Amino acid sequence: MVHHEEHSPLHYTGLGEGRIEVVCGPMFSGKTEELLRRVRRAQIAAQPAVIFKPAADTRYQKDQVTSHNASALPSVTVRSSGDILEYLRKQPRLFTVVAIDEAQFFDAELPATCVSLANKGVRIIAAGLDLDYRGKPFGVIPELLALAEEVTKLHAVCMETGRPAHFSHRIAGGNSTVEVGEKDRYIPLTRQAFVEARRQAGRREPLSE
Ligand code: ADP
Ligand code: MG
Repeated sequence: MVHHEEHSPLHYTGLGEGRIEVVCGPMFSGKTEELLRRVRRAQIAAQPAVIFKPAADTRYQKDQVTSHNASALPSVTVRSSGDILEYLRKQPRLFTVVAIDEAQFFDAELPATCVSLANKGVRIIAAGLDLDYRGKPFGVIPELLALAEEVTKLHAVCMETGRPAHFSHRIAGGNSTVEVGEKDRYIPLTRQAFVEARRQAGRREPLSE
């Protein structure tokens, strides 16, 4: 006889749709837009969805995820990936879709959290920056990319050349990796424009460190 675990919203299987999707790219590449598009489609399919964002993201309102073209859906602000599990455990209903925006700001447990939810049948949609402003892989994103069934790399429009941009160049602010900001602080650039901009700014090239 099959032993059933104590009932909890997370202890269910059988949907067979648990998976990890990652949407990444530089700032202004449409990651949040794409996350919102996928969540809206899930809602059309009557799949309960919830969007989480990290407390570190202090832009826009606290209770919604907003893209640069002002599209928005309600969201839950959390301090850690542990808070995501905690929140889901407390809900009376099951969520079949869990979306996470600004995933690069999360702690080292995020990949394990995503795997455990996906293994229980949850579809994870994680969006975040793949590279920081120095052109280095950002936080837990590389691990998530490896674990994901599906990876979507988006590009912004390069502010120097108009071509597809893969890098987020910091034009103002300090040297800390996490510096929340908008167009006043970051511009998307192609590789060539990024290397040149960093050279002009008197910094080392992205791969030479
Ligand atoms: P991300 O979450 O990747 O930062 P958003 O989904 O919030 O991006 O915003 C994407 C939107 O940003 C685009 O649809 C466009 O309206 C706007 N935008 C502003 N500057 C740029 C740019 N340089 N390249 C592309 N989109 C831009
Ligand atoms: Mg975004």
